[in-house]
Amino acid sequence: MIGLEIHCQLTNLASKLFCTCKANYREFEPNTNICPVCMGLPGTLPRLNKKAVEKATMIALALNCSTPARLGFFRKNYFYPDLPKNFQITQLNMYGPTSIGEKGKIDIEGKEIRIRRIQLEEDPGRLIYEGASERTAITLVDYNRAGTPLVEIVTEPDFENPRQVRIFLNILSDLLANLGVSDPTLEGAMRADANVSIEGGSRVEVKNIGSFYDLEKAIHFELTRQESLKERNIPIIQETRHWDDRRKITISSRTKEEDEDYRYVLEGDIPWVVMDKNLIESWKRKMPESISSKKHRYITKYAIPPQVADVLASDKYYSDLFEDAHDESNAKEVANLITTDLMGLVDTREKKERSKITAKHLSDLVNLIRGGKITRTSAKSALQEMVKTGRPASDIVSDVGLGKISDESELKKIIEQVILEEPIAAQQAVENPQTINYLVGKVMQKTKGKADPATTLKLLKEKIGTI
Ligand code: ADP
Ligand code: MG
Ligand code: ZN
Repeated sequence: MIGLEIHCQLTNLASKLFCTCKANYREFEPNTNICPVCMGLPGTLPRLNKKAVEKATMIALALNCSTPARLGFFRKNYFYPDLPKNFQITQLNMYGPTSIGEKGKIDIEGKEIRIRRIQLEEDPGRLIYEGASERTAITLVDYNRAGTPLVEIVTEPDFENPRQVRIFLNILSDLLANLGVSDPTLEGAMRADANVSIEGGSRVEVKNIGSFYDLEKAIHFELTRQESLKERNIPIIQETRHWDDRRKITISSRTKEEDEDYRYVLEGDIPWVVMDKNLIESWKRKMPESISSKKHRYITKYAIPPQVADVLASDKYYSDLFEDAHDESNAKEVANLITTDLMGLVDTREKKERSKITAKHLSDLVNLIRGGKITRTSAKSALQEMVKTGRPASDIVSDVGLGKISDESELKKIIEQVILEEPIAAQQAVENPQTINYLVGKVMQKTKGKADPATTLKLLKEKIGTI
């Protein structure tokens, strides 16, 4: 059995969870994005960020969780250098359901993964080990991240293998991006711990996993380690293990804390927050259309093939582009151009950020193809140019001379040439008309893809008929 605890940063908020320091701590010099509140200095009081409650509630709703009648915050006490207050403000269902959400579920390829609960809490600061190892003499601390808003999502142990974990995390990451609450591609924006157990053994928690790729490896390693203990009749104890990124193994770090160790107490500095039904309804109405609803709409309204619709709807960048670029008549072609050509040119986050293509120009380009002004091959070259420079489609087409050649006399000249250069292929085409496509290909090559395919085929057939 595998269960996950996933921490997602609400990266799109302006300020931290309980003070007005900035949430985008990444942009600051170490220890400059701090104030007495997030440093927990005596006499300060936290003030809850309402936007954080709104965004976290949207996550709960998107994961089909129920929301509580009131929110409660608790102090989780522990001593660690990255935690300036010596406690973390988090949530707990000590007096009934008071966390952001509970009892949700999401579907991954027909399998249901239940969500146990979702809570809103603050992120601690960051420790930086000089020499990048926990065994060095010097550890630096940067408190810029301390107090930034974090949502913890705890699943039930419903995963049966590491592959399901990977699919789940991809779906969750797309869902958060689509909601506009988090940018999961930012370093550290989504972190997951795994709980792993095999039949007859206690559960082992694996922490400190740097990437989703390593998470899958860590689970594999842990399953193998536990199986081998079981074979030798050695009991599997309940413990926390750390993922050693260098050696790619898990190592025991401590026996697991019990709830008692954290000395949870109600955070008396934050009153119970009444979750007004109308307010939640108004947030619900503000939620962007879900990925599955988008996908359904693309399939039913525009007859886009399910696989294309899935790829398009799952990615916020491309689906936003699609929404702005298409109209009733050209939707299918826009979807096609994005998924078959554009995604190859602009795949990573950096490229998306640098891409200068606009929806208007994309739609113009599709209309040039539809109007027979350029071929599909030329469109791809134009697309490359648009991503790089952001110039309008028509400018690129006329400047670079990508315009389609459908002028028959011009094409006839090229065909004559091809037949002279390819006498054997021409003879074959006379005997077997199926092989004429080879000659069409040669014409395309000569014209760098600009020849109109239909006219070329027609003229070639006429020419071959006379041989
Ligand atoms: P804790 O505070 O002890 O980490 P949580 O409730 O935060 O407890 O998390 C418990 C996690 O352990 C959940 O993700 C849950 O799915 C997982 N889990 C519980 N029992 C098992 C088990 N037998 N095997 C694997 N994972 C489990
Ligand atoms: Mg936990
Ligand atoms: Zn602050």
